Amino acid sequence: MSKRSADLESVFQSILEGIDENQIPPGGIGLHEPIFRGNEEKYLKECLQTTLVSSIGPFVSKFEQMLVEYTGVPYAVACSSGTAALHVCLILAGVRANDEVLMPAVSFVATANAAVYCQAIPHFVDVESKSFGIDAVRLRSYLQKISVMKNGECYNEATGRRIKVLVPMHCFGHPVDLDQILSVAQEFNLVLIEDAAESLGSFYKGKHTGSHGLLSALSFNGNKVVTTGGGGAILTHSKELAVKAKHLTTTAKIPHAWKMAHDEVGYNYRLPNLNAALGCAQLEQLPRFLKAKRQVAERYLKAFEDYADVKIVHEPDSTQSNYWLVNLLIDSTSKVTRDQILERTNQALIRTRPSWELLPDLAMYRECPKMELTIARNLVSRTVSLPSSVSLGH
Ligand SMILES: *Cc1c(COP(=O)(O)O)cnc(C)c1O
Repeated sequence: MSKRSADLESVFQSILEGIDENQIPPGGIGLHEPIFRGNEEKYLKECLQTTLVSSIGPFVSKFEQMLVEYTGVPYAVACSSGTAALHVCLILAGVRANDEVLMPAVSFVATANAAVYCQAIPHFVDVESKSFGIDAVRLRSYLQKISVMKNGECYNEATGRRIKVLVPMHCFGHPVDLDQILSVAQEFNLVLIEDAAESLGSFYKGKHTGSHGLLSALSFNGNKVVTTGGGGAILTHSKELAVKAKHLTTTAKIPHAWKMAHDEVGYNYRLPNLNAALGCAQLEQLPRFLKAKRQVAERYLKAFEDYADVKIVHEPDSTQSNYWLVNLLIDSTSKVTRDQILERTNQALIRTRPSWELLPDLAMYRECPKMELTIARNLVSRTVSLPSSVSLGH
């Protein structure tokens, strides 16, 4: 059977079919909204009743323990945001002033900001169309061209700067090809730090995302799969790094019953007990959330299966995605455009969204080194993120 070509109205109808709402509520449908139907109130009340709302309290270590159990990574350090978590990951990876940090051109601005907080320089890499993450094959040939190895360390030949770290990001929850990326990191002696902010509940060949790098960062912002209001976490296999991460994120205070002393410039990147309490209640429901999100993705996949020129981005082979955001990819030959779809849906209060502007297109990152970004630019111009909340599943 030949497939049909998309027009604006049929795409709009298929999005409605995917949302499976007979009537859009008066306020419309958000892109990704949190849902609180578990022990959230109970745990938050406990914080109020015990007065443990701030930096001390049992929910923080409980939350960290739950992350360890779920991800299978032996150490987790809760932080005040995913951005803070990334910042500390990069410090502990040894990123210093004037180092270059390789990262995808398609990401949330925090990935690049975290490098600049270390006075380092983002170096942008093109992505591939299966995962929307770093294209390891093209990164390898790019590095072979532009870098030199000196004493086992990778340098950018044009800038003379050390290329120290590689930060893949699991875009929209889809795991990148970690085997390939690890092999590039090994070949050029780069420290691997995963930006797993969007991929709690996503697995690569059966292993949780964020378990492959030296360190990795999770986010629990309000629009992520589970939320603590605001928050993040660092994951690592190294006890030593976990201890250092805890120290740095808690103002580098020397543990003591009453003495107030600090042994380096630390950060107030603690996750308050109040937020951790919310996180514990949310993590208890994570398997159910993931099931609901998969249902949402499957409904969209079905609604768009008959089209020749628009399709839903499927989880890559050998991975299990959390489908944080379900995305529509429009063929360049299609007569419908991204902006038409964005306009039609948002007018109907269905809050679809384009992907981020490419990081090197932002004013503060325009001068940073970068690969040719053909695929990134092309993909972003054809992508629409669809409403993907847990509450849209059944
Ligand atoms: C959400 C997110 C972060 C961290 O965000 P916070 O709001 O600071 O928790 C980092 N990187 C990516 C790719 C993200 O999507």
